[in-house]
Amino acid sequence: MSEKDTENWAWKRIFWLLILLTLGTLGLLLYGLPVVRQLEVFMPMGTCPLARMPLSDNFTGLLRPWARPEVLTCTSWGAPIIWDGIFDPAVAQQQARQKNLTIGLTVFAVGRYLEKYLARFLETAEQHFMVGLRVVYYVFTERPSAVPRVALGQGRQLRVERVDRERRWQDVSMERMRRLHVALSGRLGREANFVFCMDVDQHFSGAFGPEALAESVAQLHAWHYHWPQRLLPFERDARSAAALPFDQGDFYYHAAVFGGSVAALRRLTAHCAQAIRQDRARGVEARWHDESHLNKFFWLQKPAKVLSPEFCWSSEIGMRAEIHRPRLLWATKEYALVRY
Ligand code: UDP
Ligand code: MN
Repeated sequence: MSEKDTENWAWKRIFWLLILLTLGTLGLLLYGLPVVRQLEVFMPMGTCPLARMPLSDNFTGLLRPWARPEVLTCTSWGAPIIWDGIFDPAVAQQQARQKNLTIGLTVFAVGRYLEKYLARFLETAEQHFMVGLRVVYYVFTERPSAVPRVALGQGRQLRVERVDRERRWQDVSMERMRRLHVALSGRLGREANFVFCMDVDQHFSGAFGPEALAESVAQLHAWHYHWPQRLLPFERDARSAAALPFDQGDFYYHAAVFGGSVAALRRLTAHCAQAIRQDRARGVEARWHDESHLNKFFWLQKPAKVLSPEFCWSSEIGMRAEIHRPRLLWATKEYALVRY
């Protein structure tokens, strides 16, 4: 081989190595990360100290926390974490009907979120949300006339409330707390006994029934329920009202679903709206906006019931043996399309 050939050969080798490296990195990013994510299930969630005793609350009858030994079924403060199999849906249904409850379901659909998500959210809620109970939907939007007409079952109503369109999506999201507080202090608060507040970019895929009711209800975040406390994405910057001390925090809750009695939700929304105002005045914004403030509130005032990630699952994670029947599925995030 001449010197020229050797040099050529060396360059070719570098060239192919670079191609392989690029493809490898791309492959890892595209396919490797979900695999890494699946390893999470081997991180223990902890065990419920009460698992040998039946838990109960006013809504779910007797719970069987031992029925799901592979997951955490209660919190350290004694609240049940509702997983498929630990409750009897028929008992929950009967108790809710006896109490003659009206359940509110609030959802915001501002800007492009309305066309993209609202119809499917409402249609699937008709099939799965608190079926057999009285339900009143509250849709908050800046364009009431664009709200799709969805055929409603008996005992189910839909009301539309007009809101202003904020300029930034972060502000639309955060403004929900103040607006919900106003609604809970008005007609919604008079009409409903219990209320769930949800994101619109998801749809129901299984029964979301009265087993989810309690004085205050928080949703475990599908991405974070196996993570150790120190890695959870709480706001840690002490300048924000949402800040939690570095070594503190229970679970990371998802703001796409929270609920409770009207009185409890009035306290929750008042706290969050006030904290958001305070941050704005100081020129800071919490890492995950209203969700950070919600997490601070539930850290100060522990929820009476926690919903397992089965209640609000992300198909992007893929299926897991411990997720029996997802009740809500996130829509794929199409931020480029809906955020402006
Ligand atoms: N939202 C809206 N219009 C917007 C931004 C937000 O209607 O421009 C509402 C909508 O209900 C949405 C929720 O606020 O589901 C939270 O925003 P998003 O779902 O984008 O936040 P993420 O779930 O990605 O944290
Ligand atoms: Mn969302």
